[in-house]
Amino acid sequence: MKKLPYESPSIQKMNAGLMNKFGSRTEYEPVRQIDGVSVHSMMAQYGSPLFVLSERTIRRNYQDAVRAFTTRYPKVQFAWSYKTNYLNAVCRIFHQEGSWAEVVSGFEYRKALGNEVPGNRIIFNGPEKTNAELELAVNNGSLIHIDHFDELFQLIELSDTLKKKPRVAIRVNMDTGVYPMWDRFGFNYENGQAWSALTKIVESGKMELTGLHCHIGTFMLSTDAYATAVKKLGDLAWKCKTQLNNPVQYIDLGGGFPSSNTLRGSFLPGTDSVPSVDEFAEAITSGLLKLGFGADELPLLILESGRVLVDDAGYLLSTVIANKRLSDGRRAIILDGGVNLLFTSFWYDHTITPAQDFTHHSEDQALYGPLCMNIDVVRQSVNLPLLNRGDKVVVHKVGAYNLTQWMQFIQMRPNVVMIDEQGNTHLVREAENLEYIEQLERVPEHLMKR
Ligand SMILES: *Cc1c(COP(=O)(O)O)cnc(C)c1O
Repeated sequence: MKKLPYESPSIQKMNAGLMNKFGSRTEYEPVRQIDGVSVHSMMAQYGSPLFVLSERTIRRNYQDAVRAFTTRYPKVQFAWSYKTNYLNAVCRIFHQEGSWAEVVSGFEYRKALGNEVPGNRIIFNGPEKTNAELELAVNNGSLIHIDHFDELFQLIELSDTLKKKPRVAIRVNMDTGVYPMWDRFGFNYENGQAWSALTKIVESGKMELTGLHCHIGTFMLSTDAYATAVKKLGDLAWKCKTQLNNPVQYIDLGGGFPSSNTLRGSFLPGTDSVPSVDEFAEAITSGLLKLGFGADELPLLILESGRVLVDDAGYLLSTVIANKRLSDGRRAIILDGGVNLLFTSFWYDHTITPAQDFTHHSEDQALYGPLCMNIDVVRQSVNLPLLNRGDKVVVHKVGAYNLTQWMQFIQMRPNVVMIDEQGNTHLVREAENLEYIEQLERVPEHLMKR
């Protein structure tokens, strides 16, 4: 008689029922619809996996953030961080709401122009700007944020050939008490580099010094860090006025406010642990009002918030491809959307909910994507009900950075739809196909012979 292969015994903890003293089961609630639109019907129409964006949530987030600042400070302007999500449909919502554009490359700059943002409402950040890009941006009256001395000299050299005087600010990096310090971008405050750059700009006579900029980090959990940044930029602004006789028109504090996602491995869910936009607004505006500027000379406050405005407006809908037992006895679920689409699963423990009724038997399970690669882990271990092949799940808060950092690797990128405020769905980016992927490829003649 043939011997059966040996299988090691394993014991699995099965959870039944609702909340117990060991934790809340917030991930248990099925999410069958988004903004009133059925998850199953969207997947039937647009396929799986599928990204879904909520226009209503984007507008509400934006309006709430603007209100948090304008109720505390008279001159406030937001500039949408393109790299966070540069789907044109998304950018245009922000621009309709009154947001300027904040770009970090020539490609993003041209995207902003394509979205009909007036040149003088585009902020051009980033360490790389070619002569042609600078020429375009300066002649459009855009705000150029200088990142390093080589760029400062590049602009001085270029300025004689330009139609307009460049409107510039410098990016400043500084110690805000949060480490590791972001010191690779911009000019350092503490060692005097920033002041030296400002002096050079004004003395050159070739540029109009209009502002000061910093972007001190991302997913910042400390409001104090912003208070420190305000003090340090405020000090430079004061010296620009008094020593260079060149008051700055604005102070740009960049982005960095956290969304309510949960950082990987944190004990508390993000919804319970991150400061609100109101708390950041309070720290920033109270600092600005203490700088000593008169009411008529208060600088415009610019904010370049990205993730906090769009993260919770994005969902990934995905289908269970298979269930399996791992060799250690753990259960694993394979989904049709993995890290190719969810770059942020390297940083976040994304909340995942089933999209249909389920049994109340649950288990800690690993959640894998469809890639034939070991890195493709959506959740290392998450307590979920037992799901069947074909069941649908919703991955929450994926609106920031995934639709720009997703990769075409093994799989192609899927449809993206937006639900408008009336509950209509719009395809805002079509699923890729083989022709699209191969459009840019060229095969040398000698390889065309069989
Ligand atoms: C990425 C970036 C932002 C947006 O950052 P968030 O952390 O998403 O708010 C703003 N400004 C600059 C310069 C950036 O590089």
